[in-house]
Amino acid sequence: MLESGSGEDSVTPACFLEMTAEELAVRLGRPGKPSPARANALLRWAWCNSRPFSLPDRLEGVTARVLDGLRAQSSPLQVTESARAVAKDGTVKLLLELEGSPVETVMIPGKGRVTVCVSSQSGCSRQCAFCATARMGFRRNLTAAEMIAQVLAARAVAPPGLPLRNVVFMGMGEPMDNLEAVVRAVAVLGEPSGAAVSPAHVTVSTCGVLPAMERFVSRCAAGLAVSLNATTDRQRQQIMPAGARWPIADLLSFFSRHGKTRIFFVEYILLGGFNDAGADAERLADLLDGLPVRVNLIPLNQFDGAPWPTPGGERVQHFFSLLNARGIRTMVRQPRGAGIAAACGQLYRSTPAPVSR
Ligand code: SAH
Repeated sequence: MLESGSGEDSVTPACFLEMTAEELAVRLGRPGKPSPARANALLRWAWCNSRPFSLPDRLEGVTARVLDGLRAQSSPLQVTESARAVAKDGTVKLLLELEGSPVETVMIPGKGRVTVCVSSQSGCSRQCAFCATARMGFRRNLTAAEMIAQVLAARAVAPPGLPLRNVVFMGMGEPMDNLEAVVRAVAVLGEPSGAAVSPAHVTVSTCGVLPAMERFVSRCAAGLAVSLNATTDRQRQQIMPAGARWPIADLLSFFSRHGKTRIFFVEYILLGGFNDAGADAERLADLLDGLPVRVNLIPLNQFDGAPWPTPGGERVQHFFSLLNARGIRTMVRQPRGAGIAAACGQLYRSTPAPVSR
């Protein structure tokens, strides 16, 4: 739900793709008489089309004059695909240019469903040491429409008949640094006549920007994943500059404060020889004991110049078993898209030519 007039959501949507059904109904209706039917017709059109990045010339049930009225309030979106990589497991990674800014989007086919991983920024300013996106620096925040456009572009390359079920904000960028647009994108994705991906099927991942996390939980029902990645502040600060600002203890107290209403994900990247020892697993279990969290272990996805090796399968399994034995609900995130540079920022780094400017 977008609370208009709250001050926080003061941005007027600039493209029809980022308008909620309610906002479209107002714009497609008569003064004082919104038209939910027309709004739903437009949303259905957008999600049944492969490239709905600008408004259609005509739409059944909507007069040309009304459609032109909306067109006047909606900027068209430039979406270009500059590279595509397809992995053996069917994962497709797209390098898109949105209004000239490079972003990566991944379509991950699963059992009977598709997950799309979207970027919230072009580049990122958070400078995590293990992240390929950090190396390209920060370009700009994406609009909600540009996040929706990524979902549409990814869905267009999904295997036919496989429905879009989940969206994760785990691509380029720090979603909490672009909170308003992310909250809007989640609201629009949930529209039943459109993508119909409810917030329960959306996960937003953050490096731990606490003040924005507080705002997020008060305004958005999507799941929240926090990239913890280390078990002491000293260790965390070595790989995540954000750790210097928001200590681990504060992140943990956030989990317990909101634990009555939510379950959080804790992401823990495994960097060979840095944070993957048995002692790290025990410390992680001590920190998370009794908290409403589930852990995702993510073995480092290698990229050129990564300063750590990816831990071997046995080491990952050992880390997992230690957490499991302590009763911490844990999953090892299967490396998807092996061979296609699937970690965020990697496709961009491997194809500099079309996007370096
Ligand atoms: N800025 C957000 C979202 C983008 S990163 C965040 O920090 O959570 C999404 C996830 O990918 C994070 O959990 C991050 O730790 C992980 N990640 C980043 N680079 C990676 C790499 N090279 N290998 C494996 N996981 C990586």
